[in-house]
Amino acid sequence: MSALVSVVAPIFNEGPGVDRFVRRLSDVLGDAGLRYELVLVDDGSSDDSWDRIVQHALADERVRGVQLSRNFGKEPAVLAGLEHAAGDAVVVIDSDLQHPPSAIPAMVQRWRDGAHVVEAVKRNRTGQGLIGRLGGKLFNRAFTGLTKVDLVNATDYRLLSRSALDALLKMPEHSSFFRGTSSWIGFRRSIIEVDIDHREGGASRWTFRSLFRLAVNGLTSFTSAPLHLVTLVGLAFAAFSVLLGAQTLVRWLRGGSVAGFPTVILLLLVMGTFILLGLGVIGEYLARIHEEVRGRPRYLVQEKSAQSATTPVPEQLVRVEHAER
Ligand code: UDP
Ligand code: MG
Repeated sequence: MSALVSVVAPIFNEGPGVDRFVRRLSDVLGDAGLRYELVLVDDGSSDDSWDRIVQHALADERVRGVQLSRNFGKEPAVLAGLEHAAGDAVVVIDSDLQHPPSAIPAMVQRWRDGAHVVEAVKRNRTGQGLIGRLGGKLFNRAFTGLTKVDLVNATDYRLLSRSALDALLKMPEHSSFFRGTSSWIGFRRSIIEVDIDHREGGASRWTFRSLFRLAVNGLTSFTSAPLHLVTLVGLAFAAFSVLLGAQTLVRWLRGGSVAGFPTVILLLLVMGTFILLGLGVIGEYLARIHEEVRGRPRYLVQEKSAQSATTPVPEQLVRVEHAER
């Protein structure tokens, strides 16, 4: 039987968008002659999205619905979909048709050619105001610089092979960040460029607050750079204290300072240095704990060489087996 492709899409209050989405995907995937399943995750919608999903599931056995008990947010919804996907390859796509489904056949082809992760990167950034665009760019650049996980122009629209998906699902962390973790796992990757469309109906669900949360989540789960920063500031302040302290002492010895002032300055410098360095030390330990607590696998295997059927069993092993009998 040909390989099964799962398409996972999170859905939150998309209403009639659900029908549009299912129709468009069935067309694209059917035309490409793929064996597929659609995993639609209802992220606690308060409109009729779930009813629509159920209708589609009844009409077409290739459509499967998963309903979360409340709105958990896009990241957990995607994770739920990934855990329920049965395919040999899994495509994650937004249900608002901003990610062009027409790219899926090309992504599947890349996977057949040996890629484990196929990322769709944006050629453009439509549907966002200037501030959103600037903010997104800035965040992605900062993230890429701090964590070595490349986010510039990245989207959540990606295909993962079964082994890449299994690796991803091995990550036990609570606040997952799909774009980051799916890059962190490594694996042979391939990139295709897509044009991000305007949203068809409805409005973006992101508020400034939820985007900010996502940014903070992403950063804190990928880097302890802010903690190391405290150490650096502490060291810089220590150096500054030595200079200022020396100057104050020299002035005091020469008798050119107001009575009592050198004591105050020196005390401030000494205390400031100790506090900052102390915080830095705590930060370094916290960074270690942070690393351990995430409990990420220390390595991931991409492939293992196949064992040839005709390989003779090494003689030693045969002998051991005989000895045991
Ligand atoms: N989404 C979700 N839960 C949420 C918010 C969004 O499952 O709490 C889904 C939404 O239905 C859509 C995708 O995540 O399929 C992207 O959401 P949206 O279009 O609002 O974000 P944007 O495209 O602006 O990044
Ligand atoms: Mg969208």
